[in-house]
Amino acid sequence: MKDSYGREMTNLRISITQRCNLRCLYCHREGEASPGEEMTPEEISRLVAIGSSMGMKKLKITGGEPLVRDDILEVIRLSAKYAGEVSLTTNGVLLPDLSSGLKEAGLRRVNVSLDTLDPDTYRTISGVDALERVIEGIRSAVSAGLSPVKLNMVVMKDVNSSEIDRMIEFSRDVGAVLQLIELEAPRERINDGYYAKYHYDLDGVEGSFASRAVKIVPRDLHRRMKYFLPEEVEVVRPMHNTVFCANCHRLRITSDGRLKPCLLNAAGMIDVLGPMRSGKSDSQLAGLFHRAVESREPYWR
Ligand code: SAM
Repeated sequence: MKDSYGREMTNLRISITQRCNLRCLYCHREGEASPGEEMTPEEISRLVAIGSSMGMKKLKITGGEPLVRDDILEVIRLSAKYAGEVSLTTNGVLLPDLSSGLKEAGLRRVNVSLDTLDPDTYRTISGVDALERVIEGIRSAVSAGLSPVKLNMVVMKDVNSSEIDRMIEFSRDVGAVLQLIELEAPRERINDGYYAKYHYDLDGVEGSFASRAVKIVPRDLHRRMKYFLPEEVEVVRPMHNTVFCANCHRLRITSDGRLKPCLLNAAGMIDVLGPMRSGKSDSQLAGLFHRAVESREPYWR
């Protein structure tokens, strides 16, 4: 299925909770402002089945923090029946006890948020003293055979921007792949608070990677670049990036069951959980997916 800009819909990103055990200073909360009731594992997997039947076979489970849900293994197990590939993004705090179970439930790969290797900086960013736990979680994910394990580092000026080389080495040593993420915000927040203070332009970093990489590979999703230095480093640059939007193949679903065409755009969400709970059929729900896809607009163009 394609949207009206010819973008093939291949990815579904579902937030399963807005609860979180960290308080990251930059968190965009997956574009959700005031979440309602969470979906059950059965409801989530029904939406996965509908999305998958329309071509969205790559599923990313996110939050809030998805691992705070007691039924996370059930969410993965049921969703994995319908998705081609299930991945999850987590802050890693609860990962040490869950990696093996997640793998057995059908999780293929995982992204762990790790912005710094310095305990004080970690506490400043996340509000919690949990760096060691997260590193233990990363090691457990690698041992459990989740592959690849990607480390999401949101790069922030004067906070962690000097740690990129150290993070590349750490990722290599632990058996993970580093993903550098540009700090993002919707247009209306660009001039306020944390964004203006912390946004770090990744131009210089990418230029230096490009000059020394042995191989550069663009990904289909967002045309993100993967640099092999030879260590693999992926760079995600969503801000003011028309190429990023032109290659966005992702539909989102909020934790309270609304189809969300774009992370940065708060408008145009379509409730799918209400109609599901009131007894609508799969084909009626698929009609809502079609409406959401048809309404998609590139945020930057
Ligand atoms: N709690 C989970 C986690 O830490 O991965 C899942 C939710 S979190 C919102 C998903 C990803 O979005 C994390 O890697 C996080 O670092 C990233 N993220 C959150 N706010 C961001 C922002 N303003 N700019 C760029 N990335 C952001």
